[in-house]
Amino acid sequence: MTTNSTAATVMRGSCSCGANTFEVKAGVGMQRFYCHCLYCQQFMGKPFTDVTFVRAKNVVINGEHATFDNPKLLPSGFAHGRGSRFGNPDKGRFAKCAPLDRGRCDDCGQPFIETIGGSAGMVFIPSANFEDQDALPPVQRHIYYRLREQDVADDLPKHHYFASSQLAIARMIGRVLRGG
Ligand SMILES: [Zn+2]
Ligand SMILES: [Zn+2]
Repeated sequence: MTTNSTAATVMRGSCSCGANTFEVKAGVGMQRFYCHCLYCQQFMGKPFTDVTFVRAKNVVINGEHATFDNPKLLPSGFAHGRGSRFGNPDKGRFAKCAPLDRGRCDDCGQPFIETIGGSAGMVFIPSANFEDQDALPPVQRHIYYRLREQDVADDLPKHHYFASSQLAIARMIGRVLRGG
């Protein structure tokens, strides 16, 4: 098997150190967005995340060296009042794009991959983890922009609030499903 013969059919990637890898079937439904939600900020250690997602059935995950976690709370003090108008300011009640199982590499400690819904669900992949950046679709939108750590100067649609961000996600899921 040569690199050339597989390049067209599979998109490969890994965590920073390569201990965990994945393969995405090429040509399937795929959506890419920036998320400013607090859980994504916390998981990625960045002001916002650049994520590409596909149906789980189109991904093979080799994640034996990763630990998955679906945190219900942000670390104390992380939210500092953002995203929660009621109750515990650290709960980030309106501050999570999706209840993702977020996998981090045990070796390099870097974000690896995120899953939701098992084999019938979706897989969210930090776009930087793809080997061939040129093969990725362009970023389509910002969600949870209200929670941003920093302004982003681009012309992409920006969904500020919970409802419009969730609707944007639902529409992106629809496009991924229609894409096969
Ligand atoms: Zn790693
Ligand atoms: Zn998010």
